[in-house]
Amino acid sequence: MTTSAVGKNRKSVQILTKSPEETERVGEKIARSLPVPGAVLLRGSLGAGKTTLTRGMARGLGMADPNLVSSPSFTLVNIYQGVCPIYHVDLYRLQGSRDLYSIGLDDFLGREGVTIVEWSERLSFTLPEATEIEIEDAGDDRRVLHVLSPSKTRAKREKWRGA
Ligand code: ADP
Ligand code: MG
Repeated sequence: MTTSAVGKNRKSVQILTKSPEETERVGEKIARSLPVPGAVLLRGSLGAGKTTLTRGMARGLGMADPNLVSSPSFTLVNIYQGVCPIYHVDLYRLQGSRDLYSIGLDDFLGREGVTIVEWSERLSFTLPEATEIEIEDAGDDRRVLHVLSPSKTRAKREKWRGA
């Protein structure tokens, strides 16, 4: 694991995993220290491991059967129950801003539970308080997770905006 400072307010951590199970365990660990309400923005190509990581995070958030975690395909959001509601959003099939509006992000983002967004680069706004994770395929079963966390002081200072 490599840690580096990014500007004044954010910390970046690089984590190498060598199997889907390991990525799930990383997700589980990350989820346990997430603020609620909170959001995790995921980026990475198809098959990078976004859904796998989300499954681990759902386990870390106390979901009884994380095997039910799969990418929402016909809806853009799946809702699971753990210690709090888990909103699993996948914007892969997003067709523009009207679609984004139809998810009803306003109802939960920054209000309750944890929102996890796959293909978050398709969001039309930024979320300064979110944890951002980019998954890089490093060949075979290796993945590098670039985790960018908002600093605690920043999280306290700034209010949720966007959505
Ligand atoms: P995405 O949601 O980013 O499209 P998925 O999580 O659905 O990706 O799929 C990731 C695929 O890569 C799965 O088939 C998984 O078994 C495989 N895989 C291999 N190695 C890893 C790893 N280290 N971490 C996560 N997934 C991995
Ligand atoms: Mg996926």
